[in-house]
Amino acid sequence: MKIACLLSKGEGEKYHNQIKAEISACIPKLGTYELVYDAWGEAMNYDAFSKILADIEHKGPEAVSIPASFFAQYADAELVMGSFTPFTGENLAQLKSCHILGVMRAGLENIRIEDATKNGIALINAAGRNANAVSDFAVGLMLSESRNIARSNHQIRSGEWGKNFPNAARIPDMYGKTVGLFGFGQVGSRVAKKLSGFDVEILVYDPFVKEEDIARYHCRKVDKETLFSQSDFISIHARLMPETFHTVGAEDFARMKQTAYFINTARSGLVDYDALCSALAEKRIAGAAIDVFDEEPIPQDSPFLSLDNVTLTAHLAGQTRDSSANTVRLVVNGFYDIIANNNFERVINREVLATEAFQSWLVKAKAEMGI
Ligand code: NAD
Repeated sequence: MKIACLLSKGEGEKYHNQIKAEISACIPKLGTYELVYDAWGEAMNYDAFSKILADIEHKGPEAVSIPASFFAQYADAELVMGSFTPFTGENLAQLKSCHILGVMRAGLENIRIEDATKNGIALINAAGRNANAVSDFAVGLMLSESRNIARSNHQIRSGEWGKNFPNAARIPDMYGKTVGLFGFGQVGSRVAKKLSGFDVEILVYDPFVKEEDIARYHCRKVDKETLFSQSDFISIHARLMPETFHTVGAEDFARMKQTAYFINTARSGLVDYDALCSALAEKRIAGAAIDVFDEEPIPQDSPFLSLDNVTLTAHLAGQTRDSSANTVRLVVNGFYDIIANNNFERVINREVLATEAFQSWLVKAKAEMGI
């Protein structure tokens, strides 16, 4: 069986080496295989690559054009994996023997599900791959912004040993406060678990998670208005979709307590940042910590840069060594579960599984694996 791992040169050699090491460690479970790597595009610095990624995240896979001939080289690969590679319908049509595509990301920004289905390809991703990393970071940002951790580091390095912070008169303990989680999936639920030692009350707004599933984490399901008006910390963990674009805006910031903090490690498109910057500039809320931006790297004239009550990080929340290992493991285990265990739970477009073409390939793949 041929497996193609299609990366991007922009990701850099260090990332490629990590991915290759993880693949070598866990791929033998797939039995006899021929593994090929390739990478599209050009080597570039991280800033330039971030722009490409942001483009794909905001506009979809068509935002970046890769010659179809790149994909045509792997027309005989039955399993394909890719991380930031944009799999447009045209690109997928070149992968003529592909039956399972493993997107090595927690989301699906670089592929349209209907394109995979149209091409008879079962789609899996690496949901939750960096949920531990992001949830750690979100808790870190709550502390960093409210306790001035990054700000103090910056001041000391600029020659100032001070305690003169915008919130100096009302720096809070976490103990006894209320944390509002907007979105309670892989990341949001882990934030709740990690906060359990802080003795905080946790409110959750997520219309798609049942009250009893939220209660199991000792959290309370509330409506959006209650979340914004009662929380001392609000942390965003929903996914960006057309329906959630700018779902947090001026009226939500207007509801927040003047002493409350706003954290976004999810996606910039969820939040109207003009409204957030006004609330911060007018000190209508205490502070914010932001990891994701409309334009990355952040432009030098961004209003965020002139505010003294915001902590900014460079889309770092998901980036840990453990995240890359999890990514590969989730995708390879996903392949294995489908072929060896008839476990299709991770398949996103299950309608493909019933097709004649997929079923007969599955029989062949099992035989090749000795099952
Ligand atoms: P997930 O899909 O597991 O969870 C998202 C949750 O949002 C779901 O429970 C869903 O029901 C809920 N939701 C959907 N619509 C909603 C709405 N209108 N209002 C409130 N909730 C709604 O996603 P996840 O893996 O937990 O990721 C959470 C966020 O973190 C995503 O935006 C993801 O892109 C982002 N992320 C950021 C980084 C980073 O480096 N900063 C890394 C990984 C993920």
